[in-house]
Amino acid sequence: MAEPIVSISERLARERRARLAAERLLEQKKRELFAANTQLSRHARALSDQIVVQRQEAESLKGRTVQVLHDLERVTSQAELAERRLWEAIETIEDGFAVFDGEARLVSANQAYLGLFGAGGVRLGDTYFRVLEVLSKRVADLQGEDAQDWRHEMTERLARDVIEPKVVCLADGRHIRFHDRRGEVGDLVSIARDITAAMEREAELEEARAKAEAASRAKSAFLANMSHEIRTPMNGVVGMAELLCETALTEEQRLFAETIRSSGEALLVIINDVLDYSKIEAEKLRLYPEPFDLERCLHEVILLLQPLAREKGLRLVVDFDIFLPTRFVADPGRMRQILTNLIGNAVKFTPAGHVLARVVGLELAGGDYELHVTVEDTGIGIAPDQIDHIFGEFNQVEDQSNRKFEGTGLGLAITRQLIGLMGGTIWVESEVGRGSCFGFSLVLPPGEHTATGTGPDRPVLLKRALVVDEIVINRVILQRQLETYGLAVTSCRNAPEALAALAAQGPFDVILIDQAMPENDGPNPAASLRAAGAAAPILLLSSEPDSVGGSRGDVAAVLPKPILRSQLLRVLQDLSYPMTELPAPAEPSAPETVFAGRQMRVLAAEDNRTNQLVFRKMVGDCDVELRFASNGREAVDLWRSFRPDLVFMDISMPEMDGREAARAIRAAEVSGGLPRVPIVALTAHAMDADRVSILEAGIDHCLTKPLKKAEIVAKIAAFCPLGARPPGPGAPPDAVPG
Ligand code: ADP
Repeated sequence: MAEPIVSISERLARERRARLAAERLLEQKKRELFAANTQLSRHARALSDQIVVQRQEAESLKGRTVQVLHDLERVTSQAELAERRLWEAIETIEDGFAVFDGEARLVSANQAYLGLFGAGGVRLGDTYFRVLEVLSKRVADLQGEDAQDWRHEMTERLARDVIEPKVVCLADGRHIRFHDRRGEVGDLVSIARDITAAMEREAELEEARAKAEAASRAKSAFLANMSHEIRTPMNGVVGMAELLCETALTEEQRLFAETIRSSGEALLVIINDVLDYSKIEAEKLRLYPEPFDLERCLHEVILLLQPLAREKGLRLVVDFDIFLPTRFVADPGRMRQILTNLIGNAVKFTPAGHVLARVVGLELAGGDYELHVTVEDTGIGIAPDQIDHIFGEFNQVEDQSNRKFEGTGLGLAITRQLIGLMGGTIWVESEVGRGSCFGFSLVLPPGEHTATGTGPDRPVLLKRALVVDEIVINRVILQRQLETYGLAVTSCRNAPEALAALAAQGPFDVILIDQAMPENDGPNPAASLRAAGAAAPILLLSSEPDSVGGSRGDVAAVLPKPILRSQLLRVLQDLSYPMTELPAPAEPSAPETVFAGRQMRVLAAEDNRTNQLVFRKMVGDCDVELRFASNGREAVDLWRSFRPDLVFMDISMPEMDGREAARAIRAAEVSGGLPRVPIVALTAHAMDADRVSILEAGIDHCLTKPLKKAEIVAKIAAFCPLGARPPGPGAPPDAVPG
């Protein structure tokens, strides 16, 4: 069959189309290939970039790892070094050091620790219990304690929250103190310290302390004895001198006798100072607080110092705060000692002018009072660099102007200590050549109020007072006192001024005149006021009430200076009620009536012959029957046969001492149903312990030697029984030596 006839051109055209199509396809595939290639190469590039980055990272990671490894190595070696150093240090210390782990196994220990247990004793890896076993069996001296009990106790100890140190005594005599402490991870750190040397030192110190205490006791006892030994003969010296002064003597002899007496008394003051100081030092001094009248105590001190002040022409002035009570609770004896010392010093170191003792105070919230007591003088003063020095022991201001004054230099040291014991403080302000002011403050409870019968039920009815006193301080104090009692006060310096006031201001209800007015005011200002028409009662203020004598006719009363507030009040009250008699000025009232009845019987037990003589002379003026016993046994016998109304009992006597004798008398009184005889101890011991033991023996009162005539006579008068004649001055007693 014949092929369809296709034109060549068509075939050509078909071929061309086919070729074109193929070419187009090729072109497209080429493009696709190119695109794929491009993408591939992009991928390849990215991949190679990634490879580069990762390789770098790997490199740096590797570098860092090496660094860390390096650091680790370094730190490890440093830690090893530190540990090595630590252990070297631990090895060098003398204390044993060990660490146990949580299972109580010894993980490390220094040689000092291991050495405690001896060779082959304890090794690393051993348990704490093994350590205890070796200690208890081989090393420690358990001093009789059972080893098992000891281990049990030691194990128990470890279980406590706070492990107490434990001292273990070793058989070789050493003492080891174990300090154990549990760490946070359960480890136990143990330190073993050898305290043998410290214990030996402690024992030595303890021994030294015991020795020192024994020495101090011996010193106190020695001082007490010395005081006794010195006081006994001094009793003879001072007592006899006192008696001698009462006899007829030439002026020269009187001077000698007075000197013996005053020197003896001065010596006793020194003995007391030394004794007090040694007691304070040995902490033996005790206070005996009781209610007392501080104002009265101050006045008594002033009265005691008055003669000395008068001799020097000094004025002694007291200013006791009028808004304060006068009664407080404190040790009155010690308070008097403090005041005597400060005021005594002020008088001693003041050649001219005045000494002013002032008490001010305020009530505290609890009812106690804070008191400030100051003693101001116009004396020689104290240099600033000496101020601290004077409160020390045996310290006095060392200079020419001062050394003419006597003294032990203990007074202020004692005063400061006493004030300290009372809970107070002392201070001083001073200026050389101008004067000093010593002050102290104390907090004291008020004393109970005593019914005096002069209380507010008897108001003062006087309205106007005239005060005549040359000294401004006195005028001010007196004015303040009078004003509190409701009086209007006119103050004058002298008699002419007083006369002028009288003329100008009309009548007064009371006139108070100081006795020591200047000479040019005339010999008797009271008389001149009377002559000028003053009708008011006149009160004379005197520091020497006894010497007022003849001028008394014009005056209603003589008030001793410094004036006690209570006394002034009583006089003002009495003047307000003229029906009441004014109290007689303080004078011993001599009994006018002659009493019938027997003589009072007095027994004195005293072994020393001289003191017997002194005693007999002292009671010589009393109307009593006096007998002596030479020891305690004789005293008890005489008490039975003589039946005394009063017994004076020396404390230290041979055979039977005063305490024993008093006890025997008290026992016999009880068993025989007899009345209790008053017993007064005569003691040369000034130690407080004696006072206590004396009172415990049944003795009622105590007099310290050297005896004073006035004290003895006062005791005899106080104990005179109803049936006997008053013993006041009379015929000498017919003493019968025992
Ligand atoms: P004493 O008076 O026995 O010497 P004190 O201890 O009482 O001892 O006083 C110590 C010293 O303090 C005195 O020696 C004196 O130098 C000085 N002194 C004390 N009080 C005064 C005073 N009021 N004025 C001046 N000096 C004083």
